[in-house]
Amino acid sequence: MNKRLKTGLLVTGAALIAAALIAPPSNPPEQPQASRSLALPDAPGVPPASAPMRTTTSLPDADTLMNRVSDNGRDTTDGSGLSARANRPVASTPAQPADTPAPEWRVETVRNGDNLAAVFQRAGLSARDVHDVVNAGDPANQLTRLFPGDELYLQVRDDEDLVGLRYAMSPTRTLHMTRDATGDWQPRVETVELERRTAEAEGRIASSLYNAGIEAGLSDRLIMELAGIFGWDIDFALDLRRNDSFVVVYETLHRDGQKVRNGKILAAEFVNRGERFRALRYETPEGESNYYTPDGRSMRKAFLRTPTDFTRVSSEFNPDRVHPVYGTKRPHRGTDYAAPPGTPIKAAGDGKIIERGSKGGYGNTVVLKHGTRYTTLYAHMRRFANGHSVGDRVKQGEIIGYVGSTGLSTGPHLHYEFRVDGTHRNPRTVDLPGAQPIAERYRDDFERQTATLIAKLDGLSPTRVAQAGD
Ligand SMILES: [Zn+2]
Repeated sequence: MNKRLKTGLLVTGAALIAAALIAPPSNPPEQPQASRSLALPDAPGVPPASAPMRTTTSLPDADTLMNRVSDNGRDTTDGSGLSARANRPVASTPAQPADTPAPEWRVETVRNGDNLAAVFQRAGLSARDVHDVVNAGDPANQLTRLFPGDELYLQVRDDEDLVGLRYAMSPTRTLHMTRDATGDWQPRVETVELERRTAEAEGRIASSLYNAGIEAGLSDRLIMELAGIFGWDIDFALDLRRNDSFVVVYETLHRDGQKVRNGKILAAEFVNRGERFRALRYETPEGESNYYTPDGRSMRKAFLRTPTDFTRVSSEFNPDRVHPVYGTKRPHRGTDYAAPPGTPIKAAGDGKIIERGSKGGYGNTVVLKHGTRYTTLYAHMRRFANGHSVGDRVKQGEIIGYVGSTGLSTGPHLHYEFRVDGTHRNPRTVDLPGAQPIAERYRDDFERQTATLIAKLDGLSPTRVAQAGD
């Protein structure tokens, strides 16, 4: 393997895991700009993407719009402006007397540095309009947070009276505003449920997990999620080998047949150095989701393997070590992770702060107690995280301090100790207890829901291919 690639792999792996661990998969909107541009052409009455519009271009006439909207069967709710009329036969548009054409819609694209006032000004509307619109109630104040490229659809009567406004806040949520008979603005949000499908990907490691993921068609976020799911069992920075392989079953979200974005990873398998790991996503009826092994054990561990993003392990756990500063035989009861000063240090597990302060050669140190059997220690901190004190509870992954070089230390690093029943253990190799397994009351539901996923993994599993080919 090329050395640069390998370094890249290590760094990427560590960063991926770290990122995934800090922020457990929470389905952030993927590539917001892309999603927007994918989704916006779909919004009711928006012309197709192939016909890009210039600012302040009149839209097709009302009839064309109505046909478009009713053709694709959306906007079945009541509605303002186009949506409502779209559901009625084109011939009878009772909302508008036959001799008064509906005010035309125009679109304004938000530019860099724009706010609503600037957009309205370009459209020939007044500051009064801006004021009325943003003060119309909760969903309307979204209009104070516009992004470049966003499109505002404005219905203007006689070139000066704003009577309707439409704004796609996200691929699934559109703000509709209409003026009622008394002139007050009525905002409402229309939500579209995205259609869920599943997609599959498989890959084999040649240079890095990242490259293999991209080659398999996964997005950055999915690769990160994959690393996060298996990061408890596989140290992607150190354990990954050429020809390790993975398969992933994930959700894709569609609107009107067009993919809007990727969803969650539903199931995945990773074969690392011949050992096979499988993860299945399960959501309880209450909506709490997690990844489990096929037999219902949590993929998560009760402890992070590494509580900081390190550049290298600068000193291993070693009961027979000669101390680098004292020069005498002195056991090293933890692991040293070299990292730039200021790198956040995270609580390895849920626990309680039992020490926090300067502690001799350890320098600034935090000690956490986790249940009755485990304690973890974090030394040489440059400073502590704000707002904590002894006795406070912390969550796994919560920042408790920052890497430094206080106390007897030869350079910025985290000295990390892991104790089980009072005995120091090697943090890098100790068997970490799992987080809570699937609750008994969900067991049947879990097995029902995951059976098809397991069948899918069985069908995709590369070990089948290897057996056939070798
Ligand atoms: Zn140390």
